[in-house]
Amino acid sequence: MNTVPEMFGCMVFNETVMRQRLPKQTYRALKQTIDEGKELDISVANVVANAMKDWACEKGVTHFTHWFQPLNGITSEKHDSFINPNGEGGVIMEFSGKELIKGEPDASSFPSGGLRATCEARGYTAWDPTSYAFIKDNVLCIPTAFCSYTGEALDKKTPLLRSMSAVSQQACRILRLFGHDVPQVMSTVGAEQEYFLIDKEDYAKRMDLMLTGRTLFGCPPAKGQELDEHYFGTLRTRVSAYMKDLDHELWQLGVLAKTEHNEVAPAQHELAPIYTTTNGAVDSNLLTMELMKKVAERHGLVCLLHEKPFAGVNGSGKHNNWSLSTPTMNLLDPGKTPMENLQFLIFLAAVIKAVDEYQDLLRASVASAGNDHRLGANEAPPAIISIFVGDELSAIIDALADDVAYTCPERVSMDLGVAVLPKFTKDNTDRNRTSPFAFTGNKFEFRMPGSNMNIADANIVLNTAVAKELKEFADTLETAEDFSAAAMDLVKATLKAHKDIIFNGNGYSEEWEQEAERRGLFNLKSTVDALPVLLSEKNVALFELFGVLSPVEMHARYEVALESYAKVVNIEALTMLQMANQQLMPAIAAYSSDVAAAAGSKMAVCDSLSIKAETKLLRILSESADAMSDAIDELSEARAAAEAAGDALMVARAYHDTVIPAMEALRAAADTAESVCGEDYWPLPNYSKMLWYVD
Ligand code: ADP
Ligand code: MG
Repeated sequence: MNTVPEMFGCMVFNETVMRQRLPKQTYRALKQTIDEGKELDISVANVVANAMKDWACEKGVTHFTHWFQPLNGITSEKHDSFINPNGEGGVIMEFSGKELIKGEPDASSFPSGGLRATCEARGYTAWDPTSYAFIKDNVLCIPTAFCSYTGEALDKKTPLLRSMSAVSQQACRILRLFGHDVPQVMSTVGAEQEYFLIDKEDYAKRMDLMLTGRTLFGCPPAKGQELDEHYFGTLRTRVSAYMKDLDHELWQLGVLAKTEHNEVAPAQHELAPIYTTTNGAVDSNLLTMELMKKVAERHGLVCLLHEKPFAGVNGSGKHNNWSLSTPTMNLLDPGKTPMENLQFLIFLAAVIKAVDEYQDLLRASVASAGNDHRLGANEAPPAIISIFVGDELSAIIDALADDVAYTCPERVSMDLGVAVLPKFTKDNTDRNRTSPFAFTGNKFEFRMPGSNMNIADANIVLNTAVAKELKEFADTLETAEDFSAAAMDLVKATLKAHKDIIFNGNGYSEEWEQEAERRGLFNLKSTVDALPVLLSEKNVALFELFGVLSPVEMHARYEVALESYAKVVNIEALTMLQMANQQLMPAIAAYSSDVAAAAGSKMAVCDSLSIKAETKLLRILSESADAMSDAIDELSEARAAAEAAGDALMVARAYHDTVIPAMEALRAAADTAESVCGEDYWPLPNYSKMLWYVD
């Protein structure tokens, strides 16, 4: 296999393979399940399973797994082989329809947020036929949903599929009013993934990176990202080889990896795929994250997906580009004359209303200990949700909301003044990198998700909230006498009521924080502030409306997220204590002792020799060690107190309010020591070395 088109998707049981390998009738039945959500008959499943097994075995596969997304966001798999005794002491390879559509892993070790007691360990995985099976590491992976014995969703795929179906149904109702009778509307996503690559040898010397994914100590490098030379810069040879290798692996798995480039921070990079259905995009993104790590190993590198691996340089996010589409229309495409495009305006109004009414839920969908380091810091979107729409749409929205005339601006032609360069018309909106939710021409880009997250959460909220607004619109418009007039009135009223969520200025500025407060927008600064909104009446009602999540399932998610927050900070605190006690304090002691010995030797030679430098240095080292020692005591106490603080919210709050500040104090003292300690004595590779590694 040589060409990319030949190789693309060769490890995926996709449409082409199905058509080749399945009897016509089976293929048709399966297609109905995929396209229309019809229930799958077991006899059909048997035929599909057998064909899948034959296809996989021809590629050297021996095992299968139900691949699913538990609530802690990482994918899970349990491998079973195809072997079955043939009664003559040998085996045959078998895979039944029953095994394909349903698995029964022991669910007790996966977080359930109290959805079931450990004794009720049974959980089910159910095949999601809308996402193709694929081969990874010689294992046939079957994308599945995961639920408890009593049917509650224990995963992220189940509510995502429910939310996609909710938004599809409501969008179809609206489209019907505009004379488009379509069976389905897809929510689509393209997720741009940021990541860091560092040398494996450096990584192996840092317990913080190995256990927590981020550096817990480290003074700033002499050179950070201030020269902005890394963004789109030339790739290191090793990184370039890594990216080619990664693309190759992803293409084989049918992931539409498209764009790879360096990011703003040194050693930071980005991969953007071509968008696809939300369900497919989530699966692809999870696979991408897994492969990013695996492929890095082969190149002597380690891929860091943490939101903030290094203090003082940019963190990593995941831009979630989102839209709604039919096979022939992008519903968020304004066309040439948005003002006259009533259908576009209805969908635009629905998104604006959804984001305004559920800004708190969107914020909570991206809340995690890792992402707290990023949101609101100077390089990432603020923790306040607002929408950027650009000048043209903004003018349209103003005109509609205030019911005044609108004049369309002239499209400006860009002439670069050189005859051979192409002429093009200028986009009507510039980019605004500071906005958390930006309209980018024909889609919205939600920039708050962290690099390490499963974007299912954000998309569940987006789909469901937009579905709710579309439902309200459809309920009103379906009974209207004059549809167009009623639709226009609805657009105007909606935009007037929700204009305050629109902000085209600098989201990083302090003035915006004050202005947002005046507008009454949420500013949920940390995970602990954000998560409780999952339990508010309005938000529980939203998810109940379409059966996307029941109140019990919502509560479970709240519990899991809180627990996970506390656990992450606890691990970080313990790691810091261990590193400080066992690595850094001894290093400071050893260096101090050598400096003192050097001073002593000088004095022995001639007591008029100056030991001023040694004394100054010893004083800094000694003061830092004292400060560290105190900080170690404080952190130990704060951590123990947090563990015993009460219910899950109180525990998480204690970690946030007391443990994190104690960690910061310990780090500050250690970083001062590092800045003066001899490099050979300091046991951790420093920031300069890690970020500016040579090829
Ligand atoms: P940027 O200027 O941010 O690089 P691009 O046009 O390159 O924007 O797109 C960024 C991402 O948005 C890509 O993953 C792309 O596939 C995705 N995207 C484009 N159109 C849509 C759409 N209609 N729905 C969802 N994602 C889309
Ligand atoms: Mg982007």
